[in-house]
Amino acid sequence: MKPISKADANLALSFIFLLMITLLGLNIFYVLETQTPGHALAGAYPISEQLAPFFAGMDQQQVHFWHEFNWWFHILLIFVFANILPYSKHFHVFMSVPNVFVSKIGPLGKVDNMESITMEVKLMMDPNAAFSENAEAPPKFGVSDAEDVNWVNYMNALSCTECGRCTAVCPANITGKLLSPRKIMMDVRARMKEKGPGLMKEGAAFNDNKSLLGSYITEEELWACTMCNACAQECPVNINQPAIILDMRRYLVLEKSAAPAGLNTAFTNIENNGAPWQFSQQDRMNWAEDLFVNKGD
Ligand code: SF4
Ligand code: SF4
Repeated sequence: MKPISKADANLALSFIFLLMITLLGLNIFYVLETQTPGHALAGAYPISEQLAPFFAGMDQQQVHFWHEFNWWFHILLIFVFANILPYSKHFHVFMSVPNVFVSKIGPLGKVDNMESITMEVKLMMDPNAAFSENAEAPPKFGVSDAEDVNWVNYMNALSCTECGRCTAVCPANITGKLLSPRKIMMDVRARMKEKGPGLMKEGAAFNDNKSLLGSYITEEELWACTMCNACAQECPVNINQPAIILDMRRYLVLEKSAAPAGLNTAFTNIENNGAPWQFSQQDRMNWAEDLFVNKGD
């Protein structure tokens, strides 16, 4: 975690601590005020009622002052905290519930097809459709920067509490690889915040000579992921970390042809042989030559 994130967390915890203290003070002095003639206690204050006798020596004026003081301090803290929250990592307080609501509830390991690729395949099967009105070439495959990130992934990034449970169970991280799923989500959020205002102001043409892939997240991190989904399984707010990793890998493969050498061999085999192995389709049943096996011909 960066020092700014720690400072952010400490600030929020300090606010929460002060809110609780002033709430307690507010209730204690309210209980004391209502013990004077002409007042009646409304509601139940089990903890404050136990603590109130410790301040019973104060005169009525002091009790009134501290009641007012805690009330105003508490309400001012709420206003300040509510305004700071949207600019801090604690924005997840607002985003976690809607994020859980839109989260993936199917099998975590199921990889969704890319619509743009499905369309390309359909066009290959029916060349006439390539000239139809709907046959627009996709502008880009995968994700390389803020403008490519879909709203679900962005919502995921805003909901991250930075608890680190995902990184703690990540086999790549545990075995010393560069990958940390928590960092991936924090990087997505940081990049969206950095580039978002420029995109809103100048549109898609805005360029700050940085990019999510490269300036924030490296190829080494992306290819270290085993797609085991342990991180998504552990996340308390149902964030799907492998989804954004997969989208950036798709960009590397489909736009940059920058897959690792081992994968490139598998891709070539799939293209030539219809399978990831280096054998032609005709030779697949050779192993059964001398066996009594029905080869289907
Ligand atoms: S899916 Fe990738 S990032 Fe998540 S735990 Fe597995 S290896 Fe780590
Ligand atoms: S487990 Fe979820 S909330 Fe916690 S750091 Fe990882 S992505 Fe963020």
